[in-house]
Amino acid sequence: MTDKLHEECGVVAIYGHPEASKLAYLSLYALQHRGQESAGISASDGQDIRTTKSMGHVAEIFTNPVLAQLPGKLAIGHTRYSTAGDTVERNAQPFSVSCNKGRISVAHNGNITNAQELRAELESQGAIFQASSDTEVILHLVAHSREKTLPLALREALLRLEGAFSLVFLAEDRIIVARDPRGFRPLAVGQLENSGGKPGWVFASETCAFDLISAVYLYDCQPGEMISVGPEGVVRERYAPEKPRSQCVFEHVYFSRPDSLVFGRSVQDSRELMGRLLAIEAPAPADIVVPVPDSGNAAAIGYGSESGLPYRQALIRNHYVGRTFIEPSQAIRDFGVKLKLNPVRSLLEGKSVVLVDDSIVRGTTSRKIVRMVRQAGAREVHLRISCPPTVSPCFYGVDTPDKRELIAANSSVEEIRKFVEADSLAYLSLGALERAVQDTKGEYCYACYTGNYPTEIVSVDQLMRAGRKI
Ligand code: SF4
Repeated sequence: MTDKLHEECGVVAIYGHPEASKLAYLSLYALQHRGQESAGISASDGQDIRTTKSMGHVAEIFTNPVLAQLPGKLAIGHTRYSTAGDTVERNAQPFSVSCNKGRISVAHNGNITNAQELRAELESQGAIFQASSDTEVILHLVAHSREKTLPLALREALLRLEGAFSLVFLAEDRIIVARDPRGFRPLAVGQLENSGGKPGWVFASETCAFDLISAVYLYDCQPGEMISVGPEGVVRERYAPEKPRSQCVFEHVYFSRPDSLVFGRSVQDSRELMGRLLAIEAPAPADIVVPVPDSGNAAAIGYGSESGLPYRQALIRNHYVGRTFIEPSQAIRDFGVKLKLNPVRSLLEGKSVVLVDDSIVRGTTSRKIVRMVRQAGAREVHLRISCPPTVSPCFYGVDTPDKRELIAANSSVEEIRKFVEADSLAYLSLGALERAVQDTKGEYCYACYTGNYPTEIVSVDQLMRAGRKI
């Protein structure tokens, strides 16, 4: 990842395991890449729901004594980077309420595009919000529903939501999960091996969360589907009419871990194929292929194997960069990038290099990396991007800057090449990206590359961000 285009959120739910909160913690640990701002777990022992949430990383927040305060066989968890709402602790999830349907907790991955309208309507009916996150709107809709049971109230609430959501709900005796009718965000379903007799269930944004807890991936929660697991067993139901699918292609380009299956497909396979197709579409006169780690790794492997050029890890990433660090008072040029990446001179000196990355957002970080490679002795730097130019912001849970800040929305490829100071620059074509994720039926969203949004743009704010006339 070459620029500031942030991770969204990760969700997990565990049903039917005596150490549910510990398993939720381990799953969240595997999903940490999806959001490093805050994390939280709610657990139910059948009578009460307890929640712990805080700013920070999963491993910092959940110590043994903290997890001991979260007993029970049911738990949900969330790790967050804010895509809607302020960066403050009160926006950390899960959110909980007590209402006439009992006590409920919810965690959400995505972005509700009509949240502002729903919030205004609920406030006019007397609802009081504690946070600015759009997730709380869902709980208020459930609480205000006239339906008597939780599944019916949830169904009613979900039908009012527009946009992207993969949701996990915790009630005292059950877990309910749901995915929006277009299926923007992933939600995988697995079974727990060791749950003392009856099978336990696990739900998570990515299957890498299953591996650490020895769960087996079964299937995906389908777009428009609600799955309830309670004392009576598992109930799957379609709560919304079928709509064309809009699975987020950026999950495969960047967000998800390569060891995950997302939308039923291996992320590693998609990225390697992106790299292979990039090598076919945009060959470069070079000696070596170098990824911008980590998200460029798999595409660079693909580029290397297709082109026959040797793959070299000539940029080393420091994985331990915390959220705050102390900069010397005498400013060091490009300090932020140097803190994360460092070149291996012996691999780069005198070489013509194909540098593979997954996207260029504003262009400033890409320029720093190109300079870094050149200063380490590279003779030429040919930048190759494993997706098309990012020309439009995302309204479905990815924190893309406004259109006016996206370099590709305002400059030609040649202008970007000059800006990032590369000897050549090429992007993967849209058709090749479709091939890389095996999208033969038009089931993916590509709006950040095309500006063709699969849903109505519903607010003035969104129109402005998309650079449309009001
Ligand atoms: S606009 Fe881009 S990032 Fe957002 S859901 Fe669509 S493909 Fe994903």
